[in-house]
Amino acid sequence: MSDTAPKPSNFIRNIIDEDLKAGKNDGRVITRFPPEPNGYLHIGHAKSILLNFGIAEDYHGRCNLRFDDTNPHKENIEFVEAIKEDVAWLGCDWGDKVYFSSDYFEALYAFAVQLIKKEKAYVCDLNAEAMREYRGTLTEAGKNSPFRSRSVKENLDLFARMKAGEFEDGTKVLRAKIDMASPNINMRDPTIYRIRHGVVHHQTGAEWCLYPMYDFTHCLSDALEGVTHSICTLEFEDHRPLYDWFLDTLETEHHPQQIEFSRLNLEHTITSKRKLTELVEGGHVAGWDDPRMPTIAGLRRRGYTPAALREFCLRIGVTKSDNVIEMGVLEGCIRDDLNKNAPRRMAVLNPLKVVITNYPAEENEIFEAANHPQDENFGTRKIPFGRELYIDQADFEEVPPKKYKRLIPGGEVRLRNSYVIRCNEAIKDSDGNVIELRCSYDANTRGKKPEGRKVKGVIHWVDANSAIEAEVRLYDRLFNHPTPDNSKDGNSYIDNLNPASLSTLSHCYLEATLADAKPGEQFQFEREGYFSLDPTHQAGNKPVFNRTVTLRDSWAKIENKR
Ligand code: ATP
Ligand code: MG
Repeated sequence: MSDTAPKPSNFIRNIIDEDLKAGKNDGRVITRFPPEPNGYLHIGHAKSILLNFGIAEDYHGRCNLRFDDTNPHKENIEFVEAIKEDVAWLGCDWGDKVYFSSDYFEALYAFAVQLIKKEKAYVCDLNAEAMREYRGTLTEAGKNSPFRSRSVKENLDLFARMKAGEFEDGTKVLRAKIDMASPNINMRDPTIYRIRHGVVHHQTGAEWCLYPMYDFTHCLSDALEGVTHSICTLEFEDHRPLYDWFLDTLETEHHPQQIEFSRLNLEHTITSKRKLTELVEGGHVAGWDDPRMPTIAGLRRRGYTPAALREFCLRIGVTKSDNVIEMGVLEGCIRDDLNKNAPRRMAVLNPLKVVITNYPAEENEIFEAANHPQDENFGTRKIPFGRELYIDQADFEEVPPKKYKRLIPGGEVRLRNSYVIRCNEAIKDSDGNVIELRCSYDANTRGKKPEGRKVKGVIHWVDANSAIEAEVRLYDRLFNHPTPDNSKDGNSYIDNLNPASLSTLSHCYLEATLADAKPGEQFQFEREGYFSLDPTHQAGNKPVFNRTVTLRDSWAKIENKR
């Protein structure tokens, strides 16, 4: 991130400014981004990443990348690696060390022993069902566990034996001893350790059969790292009293200040890792990096840039109020970026052959075309022209609708960067489909207006002889419903999937210069949108281009008409 970029202002930065003024934390600002490695990161995580790393950078502090890895049966190393790749791609620097909560398993165990010694934790033999009954409800106080009054000595002994592997899964847990009548259910003697035999943890292997719960681990990991501002989403507001209780009871050296902000929700998509996992595992998408997915990997493959995601996070801001952002806001950011930064090319997605009958078969010529209409620095490229071309099927109409400005029988149109042509004949197959146009060109219109007549339409084209064939994938919303997991019709989010979210065009023709495109490189295909060469592309294979975004926000118009 550059120093000249505008600095965002939000309530969290205001709090930090006040803290610094008051001399808190000796002027240090340490944040962290704490993903659970149980899936790929999504656009919501990007908001959190850019917030935490952005603050660390602007306040000359540090942001730790810490994997909160307390749930080994759902986590794996593929997710760890994918998360690192995504955070780095966003331009965030976590320094020399990646942190893992599992690095603290010994320290956390020692904290638990301290709690037992302070009579603030006990081993409980209630099974999961009984535990739920004892917990009470939002309107009813809970009941004390019959094991709550175990002696310190007995608790220390049982806890050590839990660690040693003497007890089966689910037969015993360690619980904090707080208050079963608390109006905050999180404070009703929450479980802090559970037994899990037979899992191999991606960092600690089979060393442990006793795993700390997320709430216990999270706040203490923050404290161990000296995190000053522990920034998280609003659903953790109710957990803050519990975190404070652990930190106060254990008298930790550092007591991070938790600040909550509202999650990012985006229309027509979902930002829940559990549901995204279901989409992948259920085969509803082609993987975590399917370009329709709201994952960072999916957006990257689709052709989004880190700059566009940063701009998006700036535009939506950071607040405490829950809202759902329109997809158009995200698309506006990538469109603005690519409009400025993507060179222009010509590509025909639904080809219709054109033969210029008065152009000699053995001849061809080269046109010079600007790579960017507003920016000379992009330079020019050479575009071959010959007797046989392709134009898009949508640019010819036998029976044109009103105000149609493109090619019609007997009509004229300009080929972009080239000549004016006239359509003399439409050739059809036995079903009556137009399969080829016979046209003539006007040699006097090379780069200048035809004299004495008006040619309104300009269409794109490619030279058939030199064109390269490609597959182009067009993407639409993954879900039909703006809030797919909360549609009032009772549908589940799976029912709300858009069956037309992917259209594959297998026989597109691209201008020859696109043979040099690099995986991930972005272009504007004139009149068609912004496209990017699929990053999985290997030289020698037919290229696949993903449409990142259309040229205009046609979706907004549809939405407004509803
Ligand atoms: P999910 O509920 O989708 O599994 P999570 O919050 O459990 O997401 P974590 O890996 O724990 O996923 O998230 C890491 C950090 O990212 C947390 O601090 C969390 O608050 C933040 N985060 C997750 N989702 C969003 C979101 N939609 N908007 C902003 N921040 C988010
Ligand atoms: Mg979480």
